[in-house]
Amino acid sequence: MNSSAASFPYIPGIRLLHSPGPSNVPKAVLDALTRQPIDMGDPRVDACVDACERGLQGLLNTASADIFLYAANGHGVWEAMIVNLLAPGQKVLIPGTGHFSDAWALMAEAMGAVIVRTPYIEGQPIDPAVVEQTLREDIKHEIVAVFAVHTDTASSTTSDIPALRRAIDAAKHPALFVVDVVASLGAIPFYMDQWGVNAVMGASQKGLMCPPGVGFCAADKRAMQVCANNPAPRYYWDWIRRRKGPSYSRFCGTAPQNLLFGLEAAFGLIQQEGVAQVHARHQRLAAAVHAAVQAWSEAGQVQFLCQVPHARSASVTAVLVGKDIDPELIRSTAREKFQVLIAGGLGPFAGRVFRIGHLGDLNPAMILGCLAGVEASMQSLGIDVGSRGVRSAVEYLAQPEA
Ligand SMILES: *Cc1c(COP(=O)(O)O)cnc(C)c1O
Repeated sequence: MNSSAASFPYIPGIRLLHSPGPSNVPKAVLDALTRQPIDMGDPRVDACVDACERGLQGLLNTASADIFLYAANGHGVWEAMIVNLLAPGQKVLIPGTGHFSDAWALMAEAMGAVIVRTPYIEGQPIDPAVVEQTLREDIKHEIVAVFAVHTDTASSTTSDIPALRRAIDAAKHPALFVVDVVASLGAIPFYMDQWGVNAVMGASQKGLMCPPGVGFCAADKRAMQVCANNPAPRYYWDWIRRRKGPSYSRFCGTAPQNLLFGLEAAFGLIQQEGVAQVHARHQRLAAAVHAAVQAWSEAGQVQFLCQVPHARSASVTAVLVGKDIDPELIRSTAREKFQVLIAGGLGPFAGRVFRIGHLGDLNPAMILGCLAGVEASMQSLGIDVGSRGVRSAVEYLAQPEA
């Protein structure tokens, strides 16, 4: 235990981490992280980078996209997307998804891009018809890219990526299609090639079961072409510069070896379990959480933030609380009294929601423990959520697997 954590009292047992990132890090990954670094010229470093790239290509279902790994968090690779694909003064369409779309838009704006937004309607995913209409109105094709967030972790809403591709095509618009998969990759399927997504970015600490610190971009031929012709000044993030060579070139300096050892180990675990099983497990655990929230909501004090059942994320569930309820009190009670670590509201949802993360290295017992801790916290605060939340999750999980 480090010295700052040591100043808190000892807590017996394990604490259940249900933040939607960082998520639980499995033992095999923790072990890989603690390996001794090696000489950067050792071919084992390049072999590990290759394995991580192949792992990402597999999860993204892309045969040919270039993968770029960075020592960076999600915000870092957002910036990588912006500088590789946009020149100052160019327009980018960013459909509103709740919070992360706004944060990405603010960053692009700060870097000189002109942002076209479609509004986020609370509780709803992106409306492809509105995206199509906005692109149709762009008669001169000034919008060079659409930046869409697949799962917005703050609103816990997942948007329909193939439907957005169809909307871009229906508008006969040449904009690049770029998707943020930070919170969705590893939890739900993604078909980069089949869905016609030109570029994708993500990070290590959510569905990929690693600590924070590695980000990645994937870029198809069209995105690489745009990058090659893009006059925006850049160096560290530049895809052309990073495309080839040993790890020292691909990382623009020393590779974050230990995090890559961990990432390779995480892909090994995903392979062992089977990608389809990993996705099925996420669906099942999410459905158990949804069953509990549905039951809690029947007493009228809390409800789903995402009002469209099929758009509810497999990674995280945001629970909107009534006006007189402080979600931060639920969160701190869950943490200090029950050792269940859930997240709070971000951006427009601050002080209005708490969020249960259910992605990464989790199993039914952990989900039930989390739900019980959250239910007990609300009960101890006098919030009426009935008594059928955990029971509904148990009943759901007790059914035979489909
Ligand atoms: C977490 C997250 C980010 C930001 O990632 P950081 O690693 O915190 O910078 C971006 N987009 C989405 C959808 C996220 O969930």
